[in-house]
Amino acid sequence: MATTDVAMNREAFKTLVKNTLERRLFYIPSYKIYGGVAGFYDYGPWGCQVETNVLNLWRQHFVMEEDMWEIRCPCVTPEVVLKASGHVDKFTDLMVKDLKLGSCFRADHLLKDFLTKALEDDARLVAERAAAPQAVVPDRKSKKNVAEPLTPEQKLRMQSDLAGLDEFSGPELGEKIKAYSIKAPESGNDLSDPYPFNLMFSTQIGPTGTLHGYMRPETAQGIFVNFRDLYYESGNKLPFAAAQIGSAYRNEIAPRQGPMRVREFTMAEIEHFVNPDDKSHPKFKSVENLVVYLFPRAEQMALRDHVEMRIGDAVAQGIVDNETLGYFIARTYLFLTKLGIDKKRLRFRQHLANEMAHYAQDCWDAEIECSYGWFECVGCADRSAYDLKAHTAKSGQELTAYESFAEPKDVVQLTIVPNKKVLGKEFRRDQKILSESLEAMNREEALALKAKLEEKEKATYKVCSTGQEFTLTKEMVAIEEKVVKTHGRNFTPSVIEPSFGIGRIMYCLYEHCFYLRPAVPGEQVSSVFRFPPIVAPIKCTVFPLMQREVLNVKSKAMSNGLTRAGVSNKLDITGRSIGKRYARTDEVGIPFAITVDFDEGVTVRERDSKQQVRIPDAEVVDVVRDLSNGTVVWEDVAAKYKLVTVAEIEAEL
Ligand code: AMP
Repeated sequence: MATTDVAMNREAFKTLVKNTLERRLFYIPSYKIYGGVAGFYDYGPWGCQVETNVLNLWRQHFVMEEDMWEIRCPCVTPEVVLKASGHVDKFTDLMVKDLKLGSCFRADHLLKDFLTKALEDDARLVAERAAAPQAVVPDRKSKKNVAEPLTPEQKLRMQSDLAGLDEFSGPELGEKIKAYSIKAPESGNDLSDPYPFNLMFSTQIGPTGTLHGYMRPETAQGIFVNFRDLYYESGNKLPFAAAQIGSAYRNEIAPRQGPMRVREFTMAEIEHFVNPDDKSHPKFKSVENLVVYLFPRAEQMALRDHVEMRIGDAVAQGIVDNETLGYFIARTYLFLTKLGIDKKRLRFRQHLANEMAHYAQDCWDAEIECSYGWFECVGCADRSAYDLKAHTAKSGQELTAYESFAEPKDVVQLTIVPNKKVLGKEFRRDQKILSESLEAMNREEALALKAKLEEKEKATYKVCSTGQEFTLTKEMVAIEEKVVKTHGRNFTPSVIEPSFGIGRIMYCLYEHCFYLRPAVPGEQVSSVFRFPPIVAPIKCTVFPLMQREVLNVKSKAMSNGLTRAGVSNKLDITGRSIGKRYARTDEVGIPFAITVDFDEGVTVRERDSKQQVRIPDAEVVDVVRDLSNGTVVWEDVAAKYKLVTVAEIEAEL
């Protein structure tokens, strides 16, 4: 298939899915009657139900099966917390402005769009020329306008710029934009140099305006600031994990990717705290044979494709840094595929060296392919001890864990004891700041000072924070290193963080489950969402075969029975034709439909096979419940009960 067809089909498919989702109220662009605001979507009834099911499965799969603590913190966050975490200073994207109109764009997105289009256009041109070489012999007059394919060097440069996009600094991006002569979309005006734009929504807390805050850009910080209490609740033992589900807010520069890039979205995040010296995972064996698509750094930089690999091998070969990170990659894969994400369109991409925060040990994004391309939907990062250390430094509260040694250990301990009496006599008011500074020296500084004092009796010492210099003598400070027996140590735990963007996962799920059912005589082409029953917005529809009071009464009783058994269902007594009713329920992905007629028993229909079986009244609720929660599959039911043919159904009507 030529590239144009792929591009066209992709766009046509995107539009088709979008129209269905909006027409059937999965999504509604927010504030639509006022013209809408980019980056905000309402979830309509079906969207709400799907989100609830995705979150229920997430809770089951992670919080329950991995025995985590779930907590819930406010969205409004005081500035000090996000200053400590680094968000106030660094939570930025690089922005460029149209120099005439002032409209704003994300610099990396403009470069990505430009390169993707240039490479696609080139591939199309090459394919067209290969198909009809004679058609491109230019006549002399129009020669100037004939597009030429890229040279191999140009193509390679573009491909490698695309692969390394996340590595570029601001000035590098600026240079690329200039080098490719990229202009503002639509207007074609010149662009400014890239500069950082902070993505947080700012707010004030209380009426005085003195307490500044932000809408949280992630839920993780709420977990870090509660570390001490959660650690205590875990019996002062590592590893343990806490989870949080909630809204996050990011003032995206130019959200143009529908529900995939929004300004308010639901996140589900896990912080798994471990001893930095032991990142093994007790359940790693249970997932080591799982084979997933991995896209390691080396493959990206060499412009190769992702590779299929056993998680066990990836960890053993050091491609994935440690077992705990590998375990969460595997559990994320299992969660997403259980939801209905196509495993052939799911890969884990390792962050490039510069893309990763400086403190991070290793990061892998679960990327899902959809009509917007491969898109990050989950980030799995080993963030080392950065966050807890940052909050310890800012709050002054120790956020550490304690480890008892199996055997007492000999540890070299440094003690620095300023002689405050002598220092006070000599330096008066400066004694305090000098003593504090001496106590805060690291090992190298302290040993160097000790050596100087021993050699020369005197040494000059500078207090870094004030720049003051003091002449110290030996009796002013005692610096000793001695070996002491210790029974344990305090340390800052490392954290492994899987961070799920629920909205992106849902959108990809919609695309992966969507298909068009070819028309059969008497019916139109119809669209269907092939949701697994576990995430389907509701599980079953109940119809009376025709508008008769006796059938309505039995249908209502059947629907009540399902509700009591916890099976979400909808009663449809609209009297539309059976075909239309099926088409409407298929279009929102309801997997089962019960039709009530005049005979004993009912007909249960499965959405994708369109098969129907006859099930006795007394058994139907249990069967549909088991189908809905996945304890039985349709094939079992179809094998056990009598299949009904279309002719038999038509005879009933
Ligand atoms: P991050 O903290 O940037 O790694 O984001 C964590 C997850 O949040 C990502 O994997 C996405 O699924 C999701 N996410 C981030 N930004 C957005 C956005 N603007 N719209 C929707 N989801 C987002």
